[in-house]
Amino acid sequence: MLLFIHRKDLRIEDLSAFDYIYSTNMPSLHLLILDPFLLKNKRHEAHSGINFLQHVTRLQELYIAAGKRLHVIYGEPAAVIDRTLQALAIQEIIYQQDFTPYAIHRDRKIKEIAAQYNVKLTTFIDHTLADLADYHRYSGRTEPYKVYTPFYRKWNEYLQSYYRPPSAVTLADLKTVELDAGILESFPLPFDLKAYTPAAEPYQVLQQFLEQQLPAYVQTRDQYAVEGTSSLSKSINLGAISIRSVYEALLLREHAAPWIRQLAWRDFYLYQSVYSKDFFTYEKLYDLTSLNDRHFTSWYKGETGIPVIDAAMTELNETGHMPNRLRMITAMFLTKNLLCPFTLGEQYFRYKLSDYDNTLNRGGWLWSSSMGFDAAPYFRIMNPVTQSQTHDPTGQYIRKWLPQLKTASEKEVHLPQKNAIVDLKTSRAAAIEVYKNILR
Ligand SMILES: Cc1cc2nc3c(=O)[nH]c(=O)nc-3n(C[C@H](O)[C@H](O)[C@H](O)COP(=O)(O)OP(=O)(O)OC[C@H]3O[C@@H](n4cnc5c(N)ncnc54)[C@H](O)[C@@H]3O)c2cc1C
Repeated sequence: MLLFIHRKDLRIEDLSAFDYIYSTNMPSLHLLILDPFLLKNKRHEAHSGINFLQHVTRLQELYIAAGKRLHVIYGEPAAVIDRTLQALAIQEIIYQQDFTPYAIHRDRKIKEIAAQYNVKLTTFIDHTLADLADYHRYSGRTEPYKVYTPFYRKWNEYLQSYYRPPSAVTLADLKTVELDAGILESFPLPFDLKAYTPAAEPYQVLQQFLEQQLPAYVQTRDQYAVEGTSSLSKSINLGAISIRSVYEALLLREHAAPWIRQLAWRDFYLYQSVYSKDFFTYEKLYDLTSLNDRHFTSWYKGETGIPVIDAAMTELNETGHMPNRLRMITAMFLTKNLLCPFTLGEQYFRYKLSDYDNTLNRGGWLWSSSMGFDAAPYFRIMNPVTQSQTHDPTGQYIRKWLPQLKTASEKEVHLPQKNAIVDLKTSRAAAIEVYKNILR
C-alpha cells in the first residue's frame, strides 16, 4: 500500500503524484495532516487559516463526490507518519516538495522516520509552471538569474518547448483505502472543520476572469478600486487549481501576455527560494538596528493619517484581501517612511492575507525594502498620495473603506490628514539616508 500526503496540492486532478500512484496499480491511503505548528496562535481564526481550511473542506467534498476517502488528521507530521507506519504495511510515502525553511526541517524528520521503517520516499514538484531544476539546466547558467526580465524571457522560451500539459489521471482512477479508526482517534481535530464553508470553485473563478476581465487586465490591474484581477492567488497557492491548467487555459487567448507575466513573477520568487541561499535570511545579512517599531501599531490598525494606507489596511483587516499595488504601497510606507523592519510587516501579512504564501509574501516584502534579487532601488520611494491620485483619481477606494472621507473632495480625499504620523517629504529623505547605510 502507498501513503499519499496532500500538501499545497488541494485538488484531485493533474497531480504528478496521482500519475505515479496510478502507474503502480497499488491502493493508496490519502492523508491531509493539519500541522499544529502551522496553525499555532489561533491561525484557524485568521484570514490565512480560514482560507486554507475552506480549501480543505472543498477537497473533502471532492473526495466524497468521487466516492473516495480523504483522512484529515491534526498532529505533528512525523508523529502521524510514525503511527501510521507502525499500524499499516506501507511500502512508500509520496508527497510534494516544499522549499521553505520549516518545510525542509519537517521533511528531514519524515525522511528519518521513513528510513527507520525502511519505507521508500517519493517526492514531486507540481506547484511551479516551469520545472525549476530543468529550467535552471536549460538556462545554461552557473549563477541564478538575479534580474526578472532575463529570467522571464528565458522562462517564456522554456515553456514554449518544455511545457507539460495537464495529466488526464484523476482521483477517480485510484483505489483509496481507509485508515484504522484507532489512529484517527489518536489525532483529533481541535476545532470543527464543518464550520468552514468549502472554498469557491477556482476553475469557475478562472473562467469568469478569462471571459470578463482578462481583455482589460493590462489597464485595470493597478486600478484597485475596479477589482480587475483574478483573485486566484488564494487557490493557486494551495494548489486547489493546477497552475498547468491555468496556463493551458491561456494558451489560445488574446491579451494573455500581461497576465502570464504575473505568473512568471510567481515562478521567479519560487526560483529564488531554491536558488538564492539568502532568500529566507536577508534580515541577518544587514544591520537593521537603525530601524524600529515605533509606528508599527498605527500602521497595522490603519491609523497613520495617510488615507490610502489606512484604507488598504482596513480592507486587509476586515476581508483578508489587499490588491497588489496597495501591498507595494503599504509595505514601502512601513519599511521606508516609518523605518520599520520588513519582518514585522511580513509577519502581520502572514496572519491577515487570505492568499498568504510564505515565499511570495517574503518576495514582496524584500522588494519593498530594497533587499534581494531585483528589488526596488532604495532611493525610489513610492509616494502614497501620488500613487493614490494616479491609480484611483476619484478616491473611490478610500471612500469605500474610510467612511469618514466619503464626502471629501477629489483633491482632499488623497491628502495626509491633520493627525498624520509622519511628514512624507522628511520621512522619505530620512529613509534614503538610513537605507543607504544599511545596504552599503
Ligand atoms: C508585500 C507583498 C506581499 C505579498 N504577499 C503575497 C502572498 O502572501 N501571496 C500571494 O499569492 N501573493 C503575494 N503578493 C503578490 C501579489 O500581490 C498577489 O499575488 C496578487 O495581489 C494576487 O491577486 P490576484 O490573484 O488577483 O492576481 P492577478 O493579478 O490575477 O495575477 C495572477 C497570479 O499571478 C501571480 N502574481 C500576481 N502578482 C504577483 C506578484 N507581484 N508576485 C508574485 N506573484 C504574483 C499570483 O499567483 C496571482 O494569482 C505580495 C505582494 C507584495 C508586494
